Amino acid sequence: MLIYNLGQETVYHWLQEQIHPTYLMALAVGEFSEIKDQWKDIPVNYYVEKGKEEEAKLSMGKTPQMIDYFSSKFGYDYPFPKYAQACVSDFIFGGMENTSTTLLTDRCLLDEKAVKDKTFTESLVAHELAHQWFGDLVVIKHWSHAWIKEGMASYSEVFWTENEYGKDDAAYYLLNEARSYLDEDSSRYRRPIVTNVYREAIELYDRHLYEKGACVYHMIRGILGEELFDKAIHKFVNDNAHKTVETVDLLRAIETATGYNLLFLFDQYVFRGGHPDYKISYSWDNDNNLAKLTVTQTQAKEEDGNIKDIFDLKIPIGFGYEKSPMKIFTLRLHEKQQTFYFPLETQADYISFDVNNYFLKTVKLEYPLAELKAQLKYDPDPVSRTYAAIAIGKKGNLEAIKSLEEALTNDPFWGIRLEAAKQLGKIGLDQAGEALVKGLEDEDQKVRRTVIQSLGRIKNDHCYQTLKTALKTEEKSYYCEAAIASSLGSILSGSLKEKTPEVIDLLKKVLETRSGWNEVVRSGAITGLSKLKTNGDAVDVIMEYTKLGIPQALRLAAIRALGTISTGQTPDKLEEILDSLEAISQETFFLTQVAVSTALGQMETPKAINILQGLADSTPDGRVKRRAEEAIKKVRKKLGSDKGIQGLRDEIEKLKQENQELQSRLSNLEAKNSELT
Ligand SMILES: [Zn+2]
Repeated sequence: MLIYNLGQETVYHWLQEQIHPTYLMALAVGEFSEIKDQWKDIPVNYYVEKGKEEEAKLSMGKTPQMIDYFSSKFGYDYPFPKYAQACVSDFIFGGMENTSTTLLTDRCLLDEKAVKDKTFTESLVAHELAHQWFGDLVVIKHWSHAWIKEGMASYSEVFWTENEYGKDDAAYYLLNEARSYLDEDSSRYRRPIVTNVYREAIELYDRHLYEKGACVYHMIRGILGEELFDKAIHKFVNDNAHKTVETVDLLRAIETATGYNLLFLFDQYVFRGGHPDYKISYSWDNDNNLAKLTVTQTQAKEEDGNIKDIFDLKIPIGFGYEKSPMKIFTLRLHEKQQTFYFPLETQADYISFDVNNYFLKTVKLEYPLAELKAQLKYDPDPVSRTYAAIAIGKKGNLEAIKSLEEALTNDPFWGIRLEAAKQLGKIGLDQAGEALVKGLEDEDQKVRRTVIQSLGRIKNDHCYQTLKTALKTEEKSYYCEAAIASSLGSILSGSLKEKTPEVIDLLKKVLETRSGWNEVVRSGAITGLSKLKTNGDAVDVIMEYTKLGIPQALRLAAIRALGTISTGQTPDKLEEILDSLEAISQETFFLTQVAVSTALGQMETPKAINILQGLADSTPDGRVKRRAEEAIKKVRKKLGSDKGIQGLRDEIEKLKQENQELQSRLSNLEAKNSELT
């Protein structure tokens, strides 16, 4: 960089030799502290607010190792003359991968204690760094193909997890990415990953783009195998460096490098919405030594004599044994329901559907409890063990509790102990509570956090007292402290209701004394208070923390909590809450607007709709607009509005939607037309 003085001014001149798109330009201006590091002879610098130098190292210190790893993983050395990461406040994304200068939210900065909570920071650093290849070196031609970069950046979080923490952690990490897509798909909307139907490009930056995109890369890896997958990725990056790409370029690179044409996969998972929902039932015929397996694709619907939304995939099925190797058969699943018979020498201990779990799907296991218990214990794949734990949880009886308790106390992998704790909480019986208490001593913070959350679902005095003691003694983890505070609120029902004044006092104390790292603990206390839906005093406490001047993270939690607590309040209190949210909705900051939308979306009054409509009409941000509109729908649904009016509204919505699709097609045609002329 060239720096020179021009009279009283200093001129900084930065020249980047490589071509790159305008959306990846950035300038970070501030009184930063600069921490210098390097990879080979390339400077790797971290910029943070003065006084946060130690936190910078704890949070971003692995960057040179990551550059080394991704350079070899992608078969192309880090392509730019430097790599800088600047942590900034009030940032509206987690990070932004500008060419050779990534911006990160300063909420990702960790202190010594937060490092042990294994938060999102390391993944965020890996994600933005991976973009330097996928997004910045290889640039997408159009937003509709953004999954190529976001999917790979999200999948790079899995790569890095595997490299740093091992295969089990990576498999479990990807499972949670899949869950986050599945949640959006079932609770918000379904769309093809590649689509031209949208109002603003930013709307495409959703869980379909990131997490489902990551799952598509995982399926490609599963079909090709490690060696060919790496070969295909190297080819794609090297052939398209400093160029722009579309989805078809990825398909082409895979085919040229490996001979595989994966159009069948892209047709099913990328160019149309959805995924297969498999229901698998199993029984054993002892007289004939036959295993019977029936697989149903429950997402497939019959319409006018045709079956819609069928997936056609080859799925490996394993028959597992405690003491001998698994027997694997690959089945082509392409009908709504298929039944298979397998002659086996001995009855299998458990059945593993989709061995290695490469395919994005949901599963519902209808196996006898004995097979599920064996799977939870012996299946080597943590994702399959997770599915078994869920199916066992659904049985909900004492035998199920015993099996989950064993997993919680004995499974070598923390992810399974966590899943077992979650299921015990869902079962909700007193015996499940007794099992859970044993998990409080777990060495992993995430397991302990889930144990605490689950204790909050078991509403008896023993669990209440356990949480109360834990609030005093918890020292190791901010997130566990927050979970305790929040669970103390959610546990209060039935005879425990009389403890309400005591809990309010405890949580007020937390709010007064436990400020600190990202306000995680105090936000937990606010969440706890928000569960006290019929209590006006709790509203008053929350209201105090929605005032301007309260640290941002805490204030946002309080704003959201106003919505949660509103549903059981008296008309006067409700009016107070609405007035407050209406005033806050006038603020222009993105995160505040999102919090207000979330709050109002939980309410059950038509007045919430008016405020939301005002917000949707006035906000400049497409994501807020969309959230506000979705919140309106939610409130309307809860109000169960008159059917006739609802019908008309649906008509208008449909027309709007069709209009939007026509508009999208029209702009496509216009774009094509202008290319021709
Ligand atoms: Zn990204």
